[in-house]
Amino acid sequence: MADEKKNTALTRREVIQGSLLGAGAAALTALAARLAVASGPKSTVWQIDPAKCIRCGNCATYCVLKPSAVKCVHAYALCGYCKICLGYFEQGRGDWSARAENQLCPYNAIRRLYVDEPYYEYHIDESLCIGCGKCVEGCEKSGNGSLFLQIRHDRCVNCNQCAIAVACPSGAINRVDADKPYLLKRKDGKP
Ligand code: SF4
Ligand code: SF4
Ligand code: SF4
Repeated sequence: MADEKKNTALTRREVIQGSLLGAGAAALTALAARLAVASGPKSTVWQIDPAKCIRCGNCATYCVLKPSAVKCVHAYALCGYCKICLGYFEQGRGDWSARAENQLCPYNAIRRLYVDEPYYEYHIDESLCIGCGKCVEGCEKSGNGSLFLQIRHDRCVNCNQCAIAVACPSGAINRVDADKPYLLKRKDGKP
């Protein structure tokens, strides 16, 4: 239960209203603003389109950086705050306790915080995440799709040709204007 400390920053009412902007998405928005200033309007960067990504695993292994510049991002506004999160729990264990062996993430990068019965908040520890996409796949199966992968430009060295883009089987990684570096998932379903 080490990961299940109560998140006193949230109330049940706030969760039900679904009015939260995720910390991960908010952090990316702040980074986007800084990057836009630093790079100028004619620069371009690599970006993942979350709607095209099929969670193949190449983002974790093809990046020239180790660990990858790709990280999981949580769009909290889309999250169901599920007690049994399919992005967090390995299915088929028959045990929904937060023991390490029940967790889907191979790097223990997801923190589970108790909000109020039956709601839990899931937080990505980016220092541990390698961008494997296992949790993203699990969350997609639940129908919520609040977890997604994105290139972090505070890490990415903006290779002339992104090695992941070459290996990507779904054409999900493309160059975009640097003043709009982060394509995020949103509550209205539009990326
Ligand atoms: S390589 Fe493409 S499809 Fe595979 S995880 Fe990365 S963005 Fe998604
Ligand atoms: S399952 Fe993979 S993508 Fe998800 S948090 Fe863990 S390392 Fe990151
Ligand atoms: S551009 Fe280079 S550093 Fe950035 S994600 Fe692609 S391979 Fe990794």
